Amino acid sequence: MKITPKAVDEAIAESAGEDVLPLIKLLKKRKNVSEFKLAEGIKREINKTRNLLYRLYNINLVSFERIKDKKKGWYVYYWTFNQNKVRDLLRTVKKQRLERLKDKLKREEENKFYTCKEKCLRLDFEQSFDFEFKCPECGDLLEEEDNIEKIKNIKKEIEQLEKYLKTKDKIIMHKEPKEPVKKTKKKKIVKKKKIVKKKTKKKIIKKKTMKKKKLVKKKTKKKK
Ligand SMILES: [Zn+2]
Repeated sequence: MKITPKAVDEAIAESAGEDVLPLIKLLKKRKNVSEFKLAEGIKREINKTRNLLYRLYNINLVSFERIKDKKKGWYVYYWTFNQNKVRDLLRTVKKQRLERLKDKLKREEENKFYTCKEKCLRLDFEQSFDFEFKCPECGDLLEEEDNIEKIKNIKKEIEQLEKYLKTKDKIIMHKEPKEPVKKTKKKKIVKKKKIVKKKTKKKIIKKKTMKKKKLVKKKTKKKK
């Protein structure tokens, strides 16, 4: 099963909070990035940045190296993204989701739920009983809700998650360019052309200045 960068981000957001995502974006392609550079990169204060980094550290997604700044005398933390831990994280997140869904399914199958025509609230039997089967929002009569469709959807989701957890996954961390090889070749060729152009320009300039110098010499000779 292919795991897209978007799915990776979603799993990270689910376990560490959505506000860590700008940090992930910065860390993905580099190693040992100083915490100050990261703070600058995400435009956050250093303390807030550290807080986000610790959250990522808690779910094993980053590791750090502490190096003493000889000039300032304090330690600076350099952070690296643990790409090899992404798979574990995804599996953990999916397992948690699966457990939650199983609980939800059980609750749906074992209980009856009640709602009014406007569907203001959804209450179980006990809650509905307490409100004497009248909607606490609009006062309408509460009726038993048909949750067959809901149960069907939960079962479908459970099935998909179980299937995912059984198969091997291929994680794609970055959007791959369509034809990476050809693109790099083209770039190199362009660079070479530019260099050649520069060289010829320099030669032309040299020739011009030489001519000027010669003229000046001639002029001075004439004066003499
Ligand atoms: Zn209502």
